Amino acid sequence: MISDEFNNQNDKLKLIASENYASLAVIQAQGTFFTNKYAEGYPGRRFYAGCEEMDRVENKAIELACKLFNCKFANVQPCSGSQANQAVMFAFLNPGDKFLAMSLKDGGHLTHGHKITMSGKWFSPVHYHVNKDGFIDMNEVRKLALENKPKLIICGASAYSRKIDFAAFRSIADEVGAILLSDIAHYSGLIAGKAYPSPFPYSHVVTTTTHKTLRGPRGGMILCDDKEIADKIDRAVFPGIQGGPLMHVIAAKLVAFEEALSLDFAKYASQVVKNAKVVADVFKSRGIKVFSGGTDSHLVLLDLTNAQISGIEAENILNWSGLVVNKNAIPNDNQTPFIASGIRIGTSACTTRGMKEKEFEKIANMICDKIENQRDSIDNLITRTKIDVAKLCNDFPIYYKKSFGF
Ligand SMILES: *Cc1c(COP(=O)(O)O)cnc(C)c1O
Repeated sequence: MISDEFNNQNDKLKLIASENYASLAVIQAQGTFFTNKYAEGYPGRRFYAGCEEMDRVENKAIELACKLFNCKFANVQPCSGSQANQAVMFAFLNPGDKFLAMSLKDGGHLTHGHKITMSGKWFSPVHYHVNKDGFIDMNEVRKLALENKPKLIICGASAYSRKIDFAAFRSIADEVGAILLSDIAHYSGLIAGKAYPSPFPYSHVVTTTTHKTLRGPRGGMILCDDKEIADKIDRAVFPGIQGGPLMHVIAAKLVAFEEALSLDFAKYASQVVKNAKVVADVFKSRGIKVFSGGTDSHLVLLDLTNAQISGIEAENILNWSGLVVNKNAIPNDNQTPFIASGIRIGTSACTTRGMKEKEFEKIANMICDKIENQRDSIDNLITRTKIDVAKLCNDFPIYYKKSFGF
C-alpha cells in the first residue's frame, strides 16, 4: 500500500490547493521514537517524567515558528487546523456566543461555523460573503459586526485567492471589541516566504495548518503576540481539547520551519504565486471564467457556469487523465455542493516538484482542452492527456523518488 501510494503521488499532477509534498526530512522526522513518549503539558511543566528531549524539540519548534511569522508566542501542539480553530473558540467563546466569519460557499472553512460542525452547533455564527466581483465585501463585514457585536471575528479562507486586508479586519474588530482570528491555513507558506501579506501585527490570534503551502507534516499551530492570549490558548489546547501532543509531528514541524526560513523557500513561495497567475491568464485567454478575475495566491477558482460542465464532471474527467483537482462550490452556486459549479486549482504541490511558468501554461491548457472537448472523443482525449501528464511527471519526479526503491 505504501509503494502504491508513492506511485500514485508520483504519477499524477497534484493540483489540489490544500496539498503539497513534504520533504524527506519532514517525513523521516515523523517516523522517529518521539512517537513513543507521552509529554502532556508544556516544556518545563510536563505531567510525565523523562521529557528532556521533548522539551528541547518543542522549545526549538516554538522559537522557529515565532521567527518565521514574526510573533512572540506559538503553540505547536494542535493536531490539525480544525483543532487549532476549536481551541481558539474554546478559549474565547461560551456556548451560544456570536462570532462572524466567511461562509463556506464563499470560500470559508467548515470550522468557521458551518451548521454540521461543532463551531456551528455550539456557537452562533454570522456569515459574511464576497461581492459580485469575487472580493470580500468589507462593507458587509462591518455592517454585520456592528449589528451583531460578535465576540470573535474570523478572517482567512480555504477557497479565496485574493489578498486579505488584515488591517481592515482589525479596525472593524476594534470598533466592536472583538478578538480577530486570522486563519491562514492556506496562505501560511506564502506568508512565511513573504509572497502574501502577513496577518501580524493586525491579528489577536492566528491559526494555521502546517501541511498546506507551509509544506510541513499534517498538523496545526496557533500564534499570537500577547502573553495573556497565549496563556488562554495554551490552556485551551491542553487540557482543554487535547491530551498528549504528537511529539513526532512536532519534531517534523521543527524541520519544516527550519526549511521555511531558508532563501530557497522564499523563492519557492514566490514561484507558487507566479505559477498561479500564469494558470489564471491561460484560462482567461481561453474564455474560461476565473472567479474574481485572477489570483494573488497559490489558487485559482474556475467558474464553470458558462462552460456546460459541472464541477463534479470536470473533477472526474480531469482525474481520469491524471490531473487531480477538486470541485468547489462558487458563490451563488445553483448546484448542490456535491455537484458544484466550480473547480479549485492549486499550484503549491507541482511547484514543489520544480515546475515553473512553462509547465503550468501547459497544464492549464490541458485542463482547458478537457473542459472544452468533454463531450466528443473522450477516450482519445484522455489517452492523449495521459501521455502528456506522464511526460511531465517523469521530467519532474517527486523529489524523494531516488531515496526509495519503489
Ligand atoms: C484546511 C483548513 C482548516 C482545517 O485544517 P485540517 O488540518 O484539515 O483540520 C482550517 N481552516 C482553513 C481556512 C483551512 O483551509
